[in-house]
Amino acid sequence: MNFHDIKKLWGFHPLQEAYYLQEKEVNGLLTPGRIVSSSHDIFRVRLMEFGIEVDAKVRGQFYLGQEWPAVGDWVLIEKQPGDHQFWPIELILPRRGTLKRGHESGRVEVMAANLDYIALVTSFNLDLNEKRIDRGVAMIQESGANAIIVINKADLVSAEQQKEMLAALQDRFPMVPVVACSAETNWQVDLIKQHLQVGETIAFLGMSGVGKSTLVNCLLKAELARTHGIREGDSRGRHTTTHREIFLVDGRFWILDSPGIREFSFAGDEDQLDQSFSDITDFFGRCRFRDCSHQAELGCAVKQALDEGDISEDRWRSYLKMKREIEFQENKNDKKYRSEQKKHWAKITAAVRKREK
Ligand code: GDP
Ligand code: ZN
Repeated sequence: MNFHDIKKLWGFHPLQEAYYLQEKEVNGLLTPGRIVSSSHDIFRVRLMEFGIEVDAKVRGQFYLGQEWPAVGDWVLIEKQPGDHQFWPIELILPRRGTLKRGHESGRVEVMAANLDYIALVTSFNLDLNEKRIDRGVAMIQESGANAIIVINKADLVSAEQQKEMLAALQDRFPMVPVVACSAETNWQVDLIKQHLQVGETIAFLGMSGVGKSTLVNCLLKAELARTHGIREGDSRGRHTTTHREIFLVDGRFWILDSPGIREFSFAGDEDQLDQSFSDITDFFGRCRFRDCSHQAELGCAVKQALDEGDISEDRWRSYLKMKREIEFQENKNDKKYRSEQKKHWAKITAAVRKREK
């Protein structure tokens, strides 16, 4: 495979390459790699130039409040001569399709970077809540990735029902591909693949129980057997617990399936949250005022339940925390972040243009 094909297969974007070349003029030792997994402060990075995986840590400047790399990120690493346990990550290349979550502290955590597609997975046997899907699609589009709606567990409904539900969803989202499939019986799962170009990366989001893991396993089944024998680079067996979270499928595209993505999927749904916290949300209807914010209002049933120990403080706090995260995902609070991102990209684009002149 020539270098052009490698870049394409690895999904190294021309804009990222331009940025890399620019940095390389300053520091000739830099080489690009993609983060394939992370645990604490150790990143496993696949170096494109050498086709090996190495363990890396970020440089000191990252500790000064700079955003850290995430799985899927393209980073520049300095090739250092001699023996070194961890390769130094110098900087993160500009990201495409980035999934973020907001923390209580106001910190923004990047769950996965450089996603071309995010599949919103739902299933035929759960009632297909269109509002929930609306929110999911909006969130995906906000991330910069393309959305695909996957309705799994087609084996549980009749062909008639299937057709009806598929048509209704496709009607509602004319611009988004909708795929019906069954991960259990491996029916039409391949339809998802048809949307992916060489080198693109996809992640799967959705409520727990809809079959995301089964779906990913189904797509990877053939792959696991094939990749089993591949050499793992020069880790020398030091970090046997770090494992890859990006998988090549059909030798063509990538699935990003990290613990962060799975955790995110769970938190990302308001209806599900209210359901799983029904011991709390049951009180909402009993407040004196219908628009009660449950802070300090008169006649607030939540406050009373807290005072009387019917709701634990801990549980209330974790409900609020998850609620805030969801609101962030729904893009109610991140206008500032978006405008910063816009400026960030404008700068990069200007630098690239200048270079091309
Ligand atoms: P996740 O939480 O979204 O990762 O869901 P899982 O992959 O763990 O699946 C949840 C349950 O649904 C498991 O019991 C699966 O066996 C089942 N499941 C997954 N896909 C299908 C499917 O296509 N049809 C049926 N009938 N069951 C499925
Ligand atoms: Zn209240």
